[in-house]
Amino acid sequence: LAKTEASNHSRFYIASVDQEIRARKQLEKDLSQALTNEEFHLVYQPQISLQSNRIIGAEALLRWTHPERGMVPPDHFIPLAELNGTIVEIGQWVLNEACRQAAVWASAGMPLRIAVNLSAVQLRQPDIVGTILTTLGRHEIPPGRLELEVTETGFMENLEDAVEKLRQLNNAGINIAVDDFGTGYSSLTYLKRMPVQHLKIDKQFVQDLLVNEDDTRIANTIIDLGRSLNLAVIAEGVETQEQEFYLRQRGCQIAQGYYFSRPLLPHAFVSFVDSFHGKLEENMENPQYK
Ligand code: C2E
Ligand code: MG
Ligand code: MG
Ligand code: MG
Repeated sequence: LAKTEASNHSRFYIASVDQEIRARKQLEKDLSQALTNEEFHLVYQPQISLQSNRIIGAEALLRWTHPERGMVPPDHFIPLAELNGTIVEIGQWVLNEACRQAAVWASAGMPLRIAVNLSAVQLRQPDIVGTILTTLGRHEIPPGRLELEVTETGFMENLEDAVEKLRQLNNAGINIAVDDFGTGYSSLTYLKRMPVQHLKIDKQFVQDLLVNEDDTRIANTIIDLGRSLNLAVIAEGVETQEQEFYLRQRGCQIAQGYYFSRPLLPHAFVSFVDSFHGKLEENMENPQYK
């Protein structure tokens, strides 16, 4: 009996693995059509200075509406796009779209910094520096208004090449942030050599910041590291007032998260900025609301 059970089990297992592979293949195929079918759009999450209480920028986040499956989360399709290389074209679309949006906002009197996630696969392209600078030029975006978010694992693979390209981008005036800091194989020696302006505390450490002592210590360490290397620290995934309060008094400079706002469509983003800054000004005029 045990034997039959085991073989049945493995038959189911093989069937489900087979199904999974087929589903992934299909998703990969759909992914390569998604750009031409215009299934992508960007949402923007505000980044707030904890010092001035003003919105200083936005992170552009990619959304894919699959014709049958609906919304597919980026954590699901970005790794696939990295494996089959479509991330190069998709990432270029993201950069161009984010710059186009930034130009629209700038001409409407809202010159915000836009943060764009740059995949390690994109960074490995020989012409990436030129492509990024050309895109900025096309939309007349000053380089200082762009921030590229890269992950540590991203630059470890071909360190010299990555450092050289990031240095060129940085010399041109583009800001570099290390995303998901603390989750990869970070080396402090490399970090010192990196042309980097911002460290982003991953949301996994912010989630239980006030509950889990390890997470408190990790967040504190990143904030202190930022101070000693003269890098501003951005906390992501801030969901409560308590987390915001803690991070602010601990010296973290910038925050983003559901506590302030979810990632928003462009028109909702503009309304959010207006009302966020409007409320602040009201508060200053009417101190009883402070
Ligand atoms: P990430 O760059 O670390 O982005 C942060 C993620 O946390 C986003 O998920 C964001 O929506 C989410 N988030 C923000 N605030 C909160 C919060 O308060 N609570 C919680 N629970 N989550 C929050 P999203 O949009 O699903 O993106 C996931 C990841 O996919 C990103 O992580 C990034 O690595 C990747 N990604 C997204 N867009 C792009 C893109 O255009 N290019 C590349 N290469 N990767 C992208
Ligand atoms: Mg990011
Ligand atoms: Mg992040
Ligand atoms: Mg993350």
